[in-house]
Amino acid sequence: MEQRALILRSVRYLESDRVVTFFSRDEGLITGFARGAAGMASRFGASLEPLTLALVMGRHHLEGTLYRIHKAAILDTFALLKSDLGRFYWAGAAVRFLLGMLPPNFPEPLVFDLAVRYLESLADPEDSPAVAWVRFATSSLALLGYQILSGTCSLCREKPWDDSFRYHPQDGRLLCSACHDSPDIRAESFVTVDRWTLEYLHGIERDGEKVFLNSPLVERSITFLDHVLAYRIDGWKSIDSLPVTLS
Ligand SMILES: [Zn+2]
Repeated sequence: MEQRALILRSVRYLESDRVVTFFSRDEGLITGFARGAAGMASRFGASLEPLTLALVMGRHHLEGTLYRIHKAAILDTFALLKSDLGRFYWAGAAVRFLLGMLPPNFPEPLVFDLAVRYLESLADPEDSPAVAWVRFATSSLALLGYQILSGTCSLCREKPWDDSFRYHPQDGRLLCSACHDSPDIRAESFVTVDRWTLEYLHGIERDGEKVFLNSPLVERSITFLDHVLAYRIDGWKSIDSLPVTLS
């Protein structure tokens, strides 16, 4: 079977083979074995480099065995993002996101489309990587079942008087300060986030193709998403810690 796939990770195995983890639009996250793909000069090997959009042909030979990649052809190498170190770091964040969030062998075609769209943005000098990241991460989280809410407190249904919420990364609850300060709740680990950041994330998820340039909100969104992802992904390296511009 032939499938569109984003190559996420590629590790040399013995002399001439590779173990490749890729995100297939049709089959989700797959780890496969590519015989003879380790040679740097081979076209097969080049099409299995990380951050390549490829057409991958292969299959599981037996139920439960490693996927065998027979052939691969390059569809897009996102050349510009690989020549710009900052944009390369941004792309790496999406790779870690996908490796950390996607369940294996489960199709997530809309997340796939968002990931390709994100890499296309990074390869376009007109697009802001920071805004593209917020759009990709927020919308992908929503599709994977972790939609970030906005508006009112999950308990009392009021708008918070101080415009500040406590967000619980495990179940997505949003509490106002008053509800958060009740004795049985205070011990849990909530992330503090202001109302405008949540509204910004909500807007970018709902209406992602509009340009949402607002530096303070983009920065606050990135910090907030780092907290959410640190909760979901072991060893998440926060965007804050990377040598990139946040706006
Ligand atoms: Zn409340």
